[in-house]
Amino acid sequence: MTLVDSTSSGSAAEERRAELAANLARVRTRIADACSAAGRPRTDVTLIAVTKTFPASDVLHLAALGVRDVGENRDQEAAPKAAEVAAAVTADPREIGEVRWHFVGQLQRNKCRSVAEYAHLVHSVDRPELVTALAKARRRLVDAGRTDRPLGVLLQVSIDDDPSRGGAPIGELDALAGAVAGEPLLELRGLMAVAPLEWPPERAFARLAELARGFWIHYPTARVVSAGMSADLESAIAFGATHVRIGSALLGKRATLR
Ligand SMILES: *Cc1c(COP(=O)(O)O)cnc(C)c1O
Repeated sequence: MTLVDSTSSGSAAEERRAELAANLARVRTRIADACSAAGRPRTDVTLIAVTKTFPASDVLHLAALGVRDVGENRDQEAAPKAAEVAAAVTADPREIGEVRWHFVGQLQRNKCRSVAEYAHLVHSVDRPELVTALAKARRRLVDAGRTDRPLGVLLQVSIDDDPSRGGAPIGELDALAGAVAGEPLLELRGLMAVAPLEWPPERAFARLAELARGFWIHYPTARVVSAGMSADLESAIAFGATHVRIGSALLGKRATLR
């Protein structure tokens, strides 16, 4: 079975897949060009397709096109979408392929249990209560025999110390990292940031790169730098991003502003 019915050429699903394929080719070219401009190997940078507000069928198209990493910012939307995608992958693993879910949005403590069920990497840990809640949620899964591996987490840092987009103030990063390191079922993988709207992206990503260098002295294996979105991926890659989170350049304009 394939997602696209080859007998109905020009079907909506077929058109959508072609559109996503074209967008994906453009984004991959941008990433490759940014990597070569920065003298970095292309394999340094992972593309995360941020599919918020778009249906599970788009995730399946992207997965069939070879996208392995998908991001969401709200558990209410992500949990059912991840379940729908998992069912489709189970039904047709050769056509679609495995998908890893990245939770990139502001996280509430009461959602941690749900997020821990499907997330491969949680990018938005920005306060101690989330560390405790995610560790507890992972413990439940391990005790239930559903996984034996720790959950990967990134610390989201607020580059300008403005908490409105989420993110810990820079001064709280050390304590937060220590809290994660003290949880055997969490694995500290690195840092995440969203560039402040009012800042030139270069300034934000340069600051993040500097923070990351200091961070690696204490946490040398936590090498992920999640930074860069549709508008500023080139700058993020120039300053060392290892993961770019791309929504609109891949999927199109969102109906709602988030
Ligand atoms: C929506 C979102 C993105 C993707 O943004 P685009 O500008 O559409 O590429 C990246 N990161 C986070 C945290 C988001 O919420």
